[in-house]
Amino acid sequence: MELRIEKLSKRYPNGVQALQDVSLDIPLGMFGLLGPNGAGKSTLMRTLATLQEADGGSASLNGIDVLKQKDEVRKVLGYLPQEFGLYPKVSAEVLLTHFAALKGIANGKERREVVRALLQQTNLYEHRRKPLGSFSGGMKQRFGIAQALLGNPRLIIVDEPTAGLDPEERIRFHNLLSAIGENIIVILSTHIVSDVSDLCGRMAIIHQGRVLVTGEPTALVNGLQGRVWKKSIDALELEAHKTQHRVVLVRLFAGRTLIHVLDEQQPGAGFEPVVPDLEDLYFATIRGFFNPPISAGVN
Ligand code: ADP
Repeated sequence: MELRIEKLSKRYPNGVQALQDVSLDIPLGMFGLLGPNGAGKSTLMRTLATLQEADGGSASLNGIDVLKQKDEVRKVLGYLPQEFGLYPKVSAEVLLTHFAALKGIANGKERREVVRALLQQTNLYEHRRKPLGSFSGGMKQRFGIAQALLGNPRLIIVDEPTAGLDPEERIRFHNLLSAIGENIIVILSTHIVSDVSDLCGRMAIIHQGRVLVTGEPTALVNGLQGRVWKKSIDALELEAHKTQHRVVLVRLFAGRTLIHVLDEQQPGAGFEPVVPDLEDLYFATIRGFFNPPISAGVN
């Protein structure tokens, strides 16, 4: 099972080039698509989910032409959009049963079994009779995954699923996704770096409609080894540091301002080396400080 995207492009009628020659190979497992707001993630997700046309390029899922054979794609696709409406007065069980019927599970007994299994898998079984309007953000997202899993999809697309979840709900949601990602392709689109570092064996960073890097997170981060330095500074010194150094990220730590700087050599007094992480890679890449080979760790 592999999704191969080649030179996908999309320009909206208002002139925004949302995707530009996007090429990606997405194997089985969890794939993180990381980028800031406006990067083009949702455009890419909606195109792969057959909800929107591209201007050019191609995408194929194990021989299915994703841009042309839409009905074939929909049979093997589960999609959790960024925002989805739920009928607030209807229970989780009733709505999921309705979706199962729409998915073509016509046999009543089979439908009941599928719905029960999915509610159990997403830890919603004990809440099955409650109206969806009473669900927390995390429960709603888990319900979204339950509906996306109907019909045994081979490809699941989840768009910004953890925005607005509290830490405990996020961990629960992460556990659910990583269990699913063992058998199928899961594309997780997000602007939250830790979603990708926690979950994804492969990733890409997308910015202004282009893929800047793709590969294994650890291999990509290794490319920064020995080149990231930290210093605790006074907030008032920040602007001066920004003019002198390639400041990758700025954090507050214990009331002080902590900066990470990218440099081939020790940048100056007070800088100490740090072991780089995905956050350093992400910000170094989208700020244009760092040009790793476009893919790393990919055979
Ligand atoms: P992301 O999901 O990474 O935040 P989007 O794919 O939503 O990015 O948006 C990419 C760019 O395309 C943004 O500049 C956005 O304003 C623009 N855009 C998205 N949808 C439309 C649309 N329907 N019409 C015009 N511009 C759009």
